[in-house]
Amino acid sequence: MSHTRTPVVAGWFTEDCTEEDFRLLGTRCSGCSTVSFPREDGFCRNPGCPGGEPAEVQLSKQGTVWSFTDGRYRPPPPYVSDPDVPWEPCTLVAVELAAERIVVLGQAAPGVGIADLTIGMTVEAVPGVLADAVGSEDLRATWNWRPVPTPDSGAPDGGAA
Ligand SMILES: [Zn+2]
Repeated sequence: MSHTRTPVVAGWFTEDCTEEDFRLLGTRCSGCSTVSFPREDGFCRNPGCPGGEPAEVQLSKQGTVWSFTDGRYRPPPPYVSDPDVPWEPCTLVAVELAAERIVVLGQAAPGVGIADLTIGMTVEAVPGVLADAVGSEDLRATWNWRPVPTPDSGAPDGGAA
């Protein structure tokens, strides 16, 4: 069985690259340097902007955890999920990118739960698939946030491996 990886939204992140090179894609205004994610190709959202053209920019790979939560129930329609498959709790992380001064939401990498996260810890953007699509033939590609081990942190309570 061959799997296809379809981006959830085209142009929001790099495709066909290594995990190391994976980046979220936003836009930066040439007039005021405002960075937008999701990308803003049509206009600048800064009301004080003198006028400029948006250009694609790769966002920082790493950021710090601003907040997080877990989803323990199946969201109602129009959210698409298979009612015959038991709902697996998924972890959502809001990550602050210091250089861009924006917060980007995303799912935590598989195996990372709220017990593995703390406010302010460093995480990085890695390729992933939507949690509810795991196991289906059509994998919907997205980004995940994954904790970056620090030299002094050690393995948290035995690690996930
Ligand atoms: Zn602008």
